Amino acid sequence: MLEINGKTRICGIFGYPVEHSFSPAMHNAAFKDMGLNYAYVPFAVRPEDLAGAVSSIRHLNLAGVNVTVPHKQAVAGLVDLLSPAARLAGAVNTIVDSGGVLTGHNTDGMGFVRSLEEEAGTEIASGPALIIGAGGAARAVAVALALNGAPALFITNRTREKAADLCELINNNTGCRASVLGWPKPGQQGGEGWVEALGAAAFMVQTTSMGMHPNTVEFPPVPFNLLNKGQVAVDLIYNPGRTAFMKLCEAAGCRVFNGIGMLLHQGVMAFELWTGRTPPVDVMREALRRCLEGRMQNAEIFLPKIDTY
Ligand code: NAP
Repeated sequence: MLEINGKTRICGIFGYPVEHSFSPAMHNAAFKDMGLNYAYVPFAVRPEDLAGAVSSIRHLNLAGVNVTVPHKQAVAGLVDLLSPAARLAGAVNTIVDSGGVLTGHNTDGMGFVRSLEEEAGTEIASGPALIIGAGGAARAVAVALALNGAPALFITNRTREKAADLCELINNNTGCRASVLGWPKPGQQGGEGWVEALGAAAFMVQTTSMGMHPNTVEFPPVPFNLLNKGQVAVDLIYNPGRTAFMKLCEAAGCRVFNGIGMLLHQGVMAFELWTGRTPPVDVMREALRRCLEGRMQNAEIFLPKIDTY
């Protein structure tokens, strides 16, 4: 247990529900390791109480909070200032209180960028990215990539209009060029630009919830037969630790990574924003690993033959 005293600074996470969050374990392990007088607690905040909860950050002199589902978008309208990434993504996952002024940041996207560089050794500026999905996570990732030098994005989504909206956002606000790729049908050999996109892409990132526990047999109908050997493929899902998408990419010769790195690094960046200090990343990673150990669903899952996709 951390020792709490009159000088302890409080951070936390606003979500509803929030009990599943791994962030308290990850941050408290880092505070303890560094001997910092901070503590991180979960706050179950109902949507109708969100505005009051955000004001209480000032009233209670909290150092700051993380924000998770379902509040990330709503909080963007409740803080005093927004970072460029949070403004563009229209979503906040970290609030910092500086003398009563609340600034909303989005460290999800940059967490992905850092994890990609650390785990895969992939430079964001080295080539276009192929993004599968156009929900909240895709938005944060696309914005971070565009603001950090990605030359181009190909975005595909089941609901095409959402992919088009995200492309418009990127094209109107950044120097990155984004274009819509059609959502492939199972068995399709990669129509509408997939051959070109996969040929050009430096990496591919799967941001949909397809394959997340308990729906572990699901995966987006990517033309896996067209993937290049050695191509980097990341799935933002971390439960299960190896998704059907990752297995199919691996079978096609790709280098695959899951979403743990993004989860870790969004937390590392929030820690830096609240404390001004660099946290012990390995301590946070180990705390995450311990949380995940009991929850990972790694049971073997049925996969179709690769040559049918
Ligand atoms: P979201 O905003 O609800 O977006 C869901 C996305 O998945 C949309 O693109 C949606 O397509 C697509 N989708 C869902 N079911 C589908 C299906 N049956 N067929 C085709 N497409 C489908 O959710 P989110 O917040 O972006 O989260 C998405 C995933 O990212 C989740 O698995 C989440 O755990 C993960 N995530 C990971 C991290 C991390 O730190 N590693 C952080 C955030 C999120 P439509 O637009 O057509 O509905």
